[in-house]
Amino acid sequence: MLKLYNTLTRKKEDFKPIKPGEAGLYCCGPTVYNYAHIGNLRSYIFEDILRRVLEFNSFDVNQVMNITDVGHLASDADEGEDKLMKALVREGKKPSVEAMKELARMYEDAFKKDIKMLNIAEPSVWCRATEHISDMIELIKRIDKNGYAYKTTGGLVFDTSKFKHYAELGKLKLEELKAGARIALDEEKKNPSDFALWITNQPNHLMQWESPFGKGFPGWHIECSAMSIKYLGEQFDIHCGGIDHIPVHHTNEIAQSEAATGKHPWVNYWLHGEFLIMEKGKMSKSSGEFLTLQVLMEKGYEPLVYRYFCLGAHYRQQLTFSFEALEAAKNAYEKLKARVIELKQKGEKGGVDDVGYLSRFTEAVNDDLNTPKALALMWDMLKDEDVGNKFSLLLEFDRVLGLGINEMKKKALEVPEEVTYLMAHRKDARKKKDWKLADEIRDKIKAKGFLVLDTPEGQKVEAA
Ligand code: AMP
Ligand code: ZN
Repeated sequence: MLKLYNTLTRKKEDFKPIKPGEAGLYCCGPTVYNYAHIGNLRSYIFEDILRRVLEFNSFDVNQVMNITDVGHLASDADEGEDKLMKALVREGKKPSVEAMKELARMYEDAFKKDIKMLNIAEPSVWCRATEHISDMIELIKRIDKNGYAYKTTGGLVFDTSKFKHYAELGKLKLEELKAGARIALDEEKKNPSDFALWITNQPNHLMQWESPFGKGFPGWHIECSAMSIKYLGEQFDIHCGGIDHIPVHHTNEIAQSEAATGKHPWVNYWLHGEFLIMEKGKMSKSSGEFLTLQVLMEKGYEPLVYRYFCLGAHYRQQLTFSFEALEAAKNAYEKLKARVIELKQKGEKGGVDDVGYLSRFTEAVNDDLNTPKALALMWDMLKDEDVGNKFSLLLEFDRVLGLGINEMKKKALEVPEEVTYLMAHRKDARKKKDWKLADEIRDKIKAKGFLVLDTPEGQKVEAA
């Protein structure tokens, strides 16, 4: 039985889907105003493991991920400048709707390339906020009709005091929030936790749409409510993201969705991934100081080494990044690769004959995605002489781990031109039965770091 830790109840629970055999999964996607940093990517690796484990348990997964290309202001609490606008300024581009769209698509493509390199499977549905404005307007109309919204000069705002489950997901202490609130930036807000559904009166905002609440643009949170409901229904199984989303973004998503539909609970399981932190502290996209996958690759680390590094920690544990720790992951990954290549060369009989490893592996991943334990079991299995067909088992494990076991191969040997020349020369010598010359050339080739093998198919060369 698959058990998942549910933030709603703060307990590990058996996963019971709404429709037998199916799992509806919504993952908050990237705000495309910069490259994803490796902290963001840790969250997507965790979500990929979740999806793979659901599939490993034979669930048919419908995974939806949004692309936030409008509406995300610098702070999650509706304050500050639009993140995409800031990015245009940062990159010295003349602000225009076209430039903003171009920038968003560029970072979206970069994100999709990153996740592909990390072996993260694409969701069944990608949805861009700018292409779902009418769905958001319709949802806001329902919230308004049900009496949960009020107007301010800044737009239409959600009244959190009207929603009785508001504090539940984040175990929020709303009274303390009220007492400790700084001077409210928007003095028209009735409660400090109230948030924008639709933002108006921002003439400098580039992307604006007509709506019954005035010309403007959606708040960030409404995007996820509208798009998840559209693709997964008014109630669905699992919603996830990083832990930073618990107190504001996900709390607000729940309030909006349940206020619109009147159905409780909107989502049955909420899963949150802990942060990747730097030795110095938090890694943040907006501070501009962050590591990307590209930087790791430039430093000689394959993307899957980073994936291996992340799997070494449970997704609910904070993980501290350092290059020493990444180097250790690289060594382990290279060792695994060497073992896999050796197993492939040896060949083995088919079928899974596991001496209990497959069931223990399944137990580990079904225990709230315990990847560190799953990796340890993989190494135990590789060392165990009683296991005959290790490669078949590795392939099974890799359905969850996604380390690219099947694709692992020896690096193609790069033979310098001079060695190719010497080989041709030696071939001639052998044809003329000049064995002495052939041996001399063999020695010359050896001095350059290569061994010549005489095989029935002719001469071959390998690294000495
Ligand atoms: P964003 O593009 O900023 O909306 O973030 C994308 C995802 O990355 C969200 O699920 C965040 O919760 C998550 N995230 C942000 N920072 C980190 C971090 N340092 N470690 C892990 N996940 C993070
Ligand atoms: Zn979201």
